[in-house]
Formats: sequence, C-alpha cells, structure tokens
Amino acid sequence: MHTRRNFLALTASASLSLTLPRFAFNQEKSRTRIILLGTKGGPTLSSKSGRNNSATLILINDVPYLIDCGYGVSRQLIKAGIALNQLRYIFITHHHSDHNLEYGPLLYNAWVTSKPIKIDAYGPTGLQKLTRDFFEYERFDIETRLADEGRADPRKAITIHEFDAAGVVMQNDDVKITSCRVRHPPITQSYAYRFDAKDRSIVISGDTAYAPELAEFAKGADVLVHEVMYLPAIEKLIKQNGAATRLQEHLLAAHTSTEDVGRIAAQAGVKTLVLSHFVPGDDPSITDEQWSEGVRKHFKGRIIVGKDLMEV
Ligand SMILES: [Zn+2]
Ligand SMILES: [Zn+2]
Repeated sequence: MHTRRNFLALTASASLSLTLPRFAFNQEKSRTRIILLGTKGGPTLSSKSGRNNSATLILINDVPYLIDCGYGVSRQLIKAGIALNQLRYIFITHHHSDHNLEYGPLLYNAWVTSKPIKIDAYGPTGLQKLTRDFFEYERFDIETRLADEGRADPRKAITIHEFDAAGVVMQNDDVKITSCRVRHPPITQSYAYRFDAKDRSIVISGDTAYAPELAEFAKGADVLVHEVMYLPAIEKLIKQNGAATRLQEHLLAAHTSTEDVGRIAAQAGVKTLVLSHFVPGDDPSITDEQWSEGVRKHFKGRIIVGKDLMEV
C-alpha cells in the first residue's frame, strides 16, 4: 500500500533518475492498482472529514477503470495523476447521486481536453437516459464548440452498455469484469463489480446492506473494497435530530455495519479488506480503530481504513 504522496515520490524519482533500471519502474506501473478517489458515503459534500463523494479507480496495465462518479471525481482523477483524456471505462454501481452526479460532467471534462476520447460506460438501467439528458443539458455549449472549434462530437465518443441483471459485464485481454446484484433498498438495480485481472482480483461492493451473495461473489478475491456504516455514530446523529427516523430506517436497511462487513469479508475469504463509502462520512471524530474494531471481531485478514487518494 502506498499513500499518494509515496507514489508521487516514487514517480518523481523514477522519472528524474535516468539511471534507474527501467524494469523496476515498469513493474510498479504494470501491476493492477487501486486508488481510492472518494471514500465518503452519501450525497452531501463533506466540510470536515476531507472525504470526497464516491469514486474508485482501478488501473490495469495503466488503463483506468473508474467505478462511480461522485461529485468531485474529475478533480480527484487529476490529483491521482490521471489525465482525463486517458479515461476509457466507466462503471456505475447504481443511480444514487453520490455515485453518478459527476458522470456527465466527467464525460464533458474528458471531451474538452485536446485529445479525442473513446469511452465505454457500463451500468444499470437508466444510464442511457442519464447520458442523453446530460448532453441535452449542455447542448448549447456542445453545438457551439462543434461549429466554432471543429471538435469531434462527444455524443459519438461514448458507448453505453446498460444491463438489468447480474453477469459478465465486459472482458478484454487484461481483465474479466462481472457483476452481482446487491441489496440497497429501495433501489433494486444496485450492483457490485468484480475485476479478475491476471495478477489480482478485486471486488467493489457498491452500496449494499449485509448480502451473503456478495460474499459468495467475492470468494477468494485478493481485495474486497466494501462500504461501511458505524452504528454508534448513526445513533448519535439521530439523537441530535429527532425527526430523522426515516433517514435512520433507510441507512439501516440499505448499508452494512462494521460487524457485518467483517462477516462478509470472512465468508468471502479475501486477503485484504478495504473500508470505503463511510457512513457517516463527515464525522472526523470516528477513529480508524473505531471503524475497524467491529470488523476485526469476524475478519482476521488485513483491514485498511480507506482514505482519499490512498493507493492499495
Ligand atoms: Zn452511496
Ligand atoms: Zn446508494
């Protein structure tokens, strides 16, 4: 695991030192990497925790695969050293806004870079409409620039792949990507993704309540990135705001407590568990120890409490 700072230092020293053996740098680069871009759960913008809205990046042979597009994802990609015109594959887990609010703007931001783009986007029913509606929202600007600046039409650079059932999402020489339907009421179309690359298998839970079928889906994976909810803080939040019972009911029915995340990771037998999509995501008083103590009761593997721009 590197923090972003470590990685930057590594990149800087590798590019400055011409005498560094090339293979060392290439090996580091070609490994399948995970960079957490946004680790906050929920649609509000954090003012306290420093966590951005949900987004996770997997780099396989330097090709970026982006899972979810919470608000701020374009900036987070740039901070992670990914040029937006490098973007190639986008996966949306479900259509809560903390997972798709910047989907359209990200396509736009990639388009206005100087290089032509080609993006395949995958996600549950609704993705086609979301894409079309975004281009409609920016139609005036896009058509002005097409005529005025001679750009290629962005609407032709995006291919949408919608699905409404679990299965193989896509496959190429580097990776096979499959999906598993998870439990996130009232949304029925909510998915986890599994990336089986040659050197590493990674599962991203998406948003889900305790789902034993997800443990089955994640069986034997190297890394499970799982959402997490800290119950004592939810109870505190509700006490402070008596009217929020509906919100409490939603959170309990739709997300996974620390103990249950531990159970899922143990059932799946993964090597490493990365906690992300923290609920509540804007309470800096919750320590890493508090996030992981419930998990540890059930899961004996490596637990990483995710932070924005952390590389795993
Ligand atoms: Zn969410
Ligand atoms: Zn959600």
